[in-house]
Amino acid sequence: MRECFIEFRNVSFRYGDEQPWVLDDVSFTIYKDEWVAIIGHNGSGKSTIAKLMNGLLFPQKGEIIINGIPVNEQTVWDVRKQVGMVFQNPDNQFVGTTVQDDVAFGMENRGFAREEMVNRIDEVLQAVRMEDYLLTEPHRLSGGQKQRVAIASLLAINPEVLILDEATAMLDPKGRKEIMRTVSEIQEKNEISLITITHDLEEVVQAERVIVMNSGKVWAEATPRDIFKQKDDLRKIGLDVPFVAVLADELKQLDIMIKNEPLN
Ligand code: ADP
Repeated sequence: MRECFIEFRNVSFRYGDEQPWVLDDVSFTIYKDEWVAIIGHNGSGKSTIAKLMNGLLFPQKGEIIINGIPVNEQTVWDVRKQVGMVFQNPDNQFVGTTVQDDVAFGMENRGFAREEMVNRIDEVLQAVRMEDYLLTEPHRLSGGQKQRVAIASLLAINPEVLILDEATAMLDPKGRKEIMRTVSEIQEKNEISLITITHDLEEVVQAERVIVMNSGKVWAEATPRDIFKQKDDLRKIGLDVPFVAVLADELKQLDIMIKNEPLN
């Protein structure tokens, strides 16, 4: 049986006593080493979920358990060690003056030995295909390269889960593809849970499971294939099913129709 990694148990959240609830009785489980995509239109509550997973916010109702630890003010630092987050704007995530320094920074804070750091930096930069940019200043990189370095910096400190919150939203299609390829390679090679948060249905194709949010509630939870089957309902909640998925589905139906045609 798969081990639970993140559990949301009847979580409700609002940004203030007078504010509306932005998450309303949300429950789901994310298992160890699983890739889950969380999708939903703008304002459906996705980023709030990401912030709750990292202890940047705490729910007013319900409970969040990460790796067996209930998330609260006392446990938040333990929780944050296990959760790596990549945000939308690549420029806000750099602390080092070179790619190498940036990856080293988090490791220094965690007390990694010097020799271990050198090997680890090479290893994680190779994992994101940025090993040729060791001495490059981060501001000289493209948006996609910056996000890959941000991912490498997190990988270096061995998180249990990597959360990408709209991490491709500011990138061009090439940069977007690079990130999706990188994270799928990482997911395959490492024992790590991956959560990709997006409003773009094209980015959920490779995930094992999809959680669809709508107006602060879990609207559906299924495999990408089963989610895409609900294309008309998805459109009603502001989500467009990618053309490729529609085409594949229509070709399949056509195939069935042809097979059922009497041969005369
Ligand atoms: P998503 O990531 O799906 O776009 P968010 O979690 O960012 O959704 O937002 C959910 C709701 O919470 C939206 O209605 C948004 O306006 C509101 N919201 C987000 N951040 C704040 C904040 N800091 N203060 C008040 N309301 C907020």
